[in-house]
Amino acid sequence: MDLSIVIPCFNERESLPELFRQLTAVLERTKRSYEILMVDDGSSDGTWDYVAEAHEDDERIRGIRFRRNFGKSAALTAGFAEARGDVVITLDADLQDDPDEIPRFLELIDEGVDMVTGWKQNRQDPLEKTLPSRLFNRVTSRLTGLDLHDFNCGFKGYRRAVIDEIRVQGDMHRFIPVLAHQQGFAIAELPVKHNPRRHGKSKYGFERYLRGATDLVTIIFLTKYAQRPGHLFGGGGLLLGGAGFAICLYMAILWFLGFRPIGNRPLLLLGILLLIMGVQFVSIGLIGEMLSRLTTTTDTSHAFSIRERLD
Ligand code: UDP
Ligand code: MG
Repeated sequence: MDLSIVIPCFNERESLPELFRQLTAVLERTKRSYEILMVDDGSSDGTWDYVAEAHEDDERIRGIRFRRNFGKSAALTAGFAEARGDVVITLDADLQDDPDEIPRFLELIDEGVDMVTGWKQNRQDPLEKTLPSRLFNRVTSRLTGLDLHDFNCGFKGYRRAVIDEIRVQGDMHRFIPVLAHQQGFAIAELPVKHNPRRHGKSKYGFERYLRGATDLVTIIFLTKYAQRPGHLFGGGGLLLGGAGFAICLYMAILWFLGFRPIGNRPLLLLGILLLIMGVQFVSIGLIGEMLSRLTTTTDTSHAFSIRERLD
């Protein structure tokens, strides 16, 4: 199979008829063999019934149904595991991503890029969404060394090899380009048309920014130090502990030279504090090293639970 279209959907029933119509029209024009894989992430608005109906009419439309809402990352991971195509394209179900752009993704992948990530250059979302998002993209670019305008666009295209190596949980789908970049895959950014949401409502509110910020810290840690946590904690620990040791040594010398008492000196407290912190950091680093040797699997079976499927 040439192409899998993976679509996470959570209560998007109203958008589906138009989505399938547009997708089928575009995909037939590409002359490739394809499947449309709908991942129903615990919808309660009849999304699954509609997918099942569509599957009856067109067996290229397949579906996976989660037992409950597990989040977009889990939906993508399940879709990646089930997809049969050599190339996988993901897009949102809400028609904000325009299926007409699919051939441009395919072109770039044919040219040799491993992963193409959409850029909602002319984003049709309210300001309270676009402004923080711009900040998020800037900071992420700066901190990860991967220069993109739009990390979290739902519209992306992947060569098979990329999805075989990428596993996302929690809300980590925001950082898929960072993870792919870390593995050395070639990434291109493609400006895409973006439409306002017509049906239903956005599944993300304010909490997305707090989560995004926390996840950024995690991702930097994971991409740089997951294989060698001892370097991060051990390095910091040695510096702190070293400074603490020097301070305490200095205080001890003063004491022997007769500059007593030293018990009332704030510097003594600082020295002791740094020593303890240093020991703690080094120990955390060592524990991290042991953990990283235990957990080398990428098992995600616990990240979601499938209730039904249409093949
Ligand atoms: N989505 C999902 N599970 C969730 C939240 C969202 O599968 O828990 C899907 C949703 O149905 C849509 C896509 O992820 O197809 C993007 O969500 P949304 O449009 O709400 O995000 P926004 O465009 O507002 O950033
Ligand atoms: Mg949307």
